[in-house]
Amino acid sequence: MSEPILTLTLPQRVEWGAGALARVADAVARLGAVHVFVVSDQAVARAGHLERLLAVLPAGVHATVFDHVEPEPTTVVVGQAAEALRAAEGVDVLVSLGGGSVMDTTKNAAVLALNGGVLCDYEDGADPARPITHVLPHIAVPTTAGTGSEATAWAVFVDPARRLKNAVYDSRLVPFMAILDPELTVSVPPGVTAGTGMDALTHAMEAFVSRLANPVTDALALQAVELVALHLRRAVAEGADLEARAGMLLASFLAGAAFSNSSCGLVHTLSEALGGFYRLPHGLTNGVLLAPVMAFNAPSCAARYARLGTAVTGVADADAADAVRGLAADIGLPRSLAELGVRPADLPALAAAAFEWANDAGNPRDVTLDQVRGLLEHASEPGKDRA
Ligand code: NAD
Repeated sequence: MSEPILTLTLPQRVEWGAGALARVADAVARLGAVHVFVVSDQAVARAGHLERLLAVLPAGVHATVFDHVEPEPTTVVVGQAAEALRAAEGVDVLVSLGGGSVMDTTKNAAVLALNGGVLCDYEDGADPARPITHVLPHIAVPTTAGTGSEATAWAVFVDPARRLKNAVYDSRLVPFMAILDPELTVSVPPGVTAGTGMDALTHAMEAFVSRLANPVTDALALQAVELVALHLRRAVAEGADLEARAGMLLASFLAGAAFSNSSCGLVHTLSEALGGFYRLPHGLTNGVLLAPVMAFNAPSCAARYARLGTAVTGVADADAADAVRGLAADIGLPRSLAELGVRPADLPALAAAAFEWANDAGNPRDVTLDQVRGLLEHASEPGKDRA
């Protein structure tokens, strides 16, 4: 019997390096754009990056700007961005300048503005209630190194009415172009650098042990893990270190491409449930949950974790979960969900919410509701996992 066909979806073009922001001009010109819709947020604007982007647009190209995206964006802010896009007639290209919150809001706003309806019509992965039929080319310019959304088919949102974090998934949401300019991430504060960096590591590690992993995602994921191990500590400690920032941006991109073409796993399922309840920074919850979930998964994929342990430490037979604990401690990550403000009384409801999807993703080990609750309880106890 022949192997199943392997499908990969990636951006058509990637520019990586200090000063790459200027390549937006070339991309816009290649697309023949006359009206671009630029999405960003206030912190990115305050850092001067939005002004820099607008300055490199070719003369004669009109820009409509929506720069009010919030972290962990809700259906409300996506609706506002969609409204702004609808009102801006004749837009032919989307440009997102920001972290995952901005890139995802851009994707989701375009889904709504071009296809109608509400976001929940498009959720539920490959089987949404309503198909996406219209898209625009999207130039994604990440200003954090973590989500890899510039390489992914996912667009996450929080629905406060349902206390739910969910996502739209469609291969046509993969941006046309990704511009990875480390000069844009120098202004990211250490705490955000640490959390987003752990997000990239989580994507890579979950993609590598996923049941849906394939030889291409393996290569992407392993390279991403090595880059995070090499650069994350320095990016947190020395924010102006362009080499470390560039390494982390590449790691984030590779990890995004890896999980978008395979899958994430249980860390993400738990993190999404926490995101729906508390709107906590996604990278921080991933960073706290990664080692406990690896310890849980270990019996199902010991050989793969051994390779990850070596990728992080450079030492044969290193324990991957220990290596993750060490990295998380070195970059000052919170030690438990309790430190992040997760209330013990919410754990049963969180476990129930997470369990709904816990066995849908490509996590290497099947999990019961009791085990999900146990994992959340374990991750809630301060310092227990990093004793
Ligand atoms: P973020 O975009 O929310 O940014 C975090 C904070 O850093 C914000 O306050 C932001 O204003 C600020 N910031 C961003 N860039 C900055 C810069 N250059 N200088 C100074 N401040 C800056 O955080 P994120 O982790 O990049 O994105 C999180 C969102 O992405 C979550 O909703 C998460 O679920 C989602 N996500 C999406 C995917 C995907 O594939 N689409 C994957 C993982 C996570």
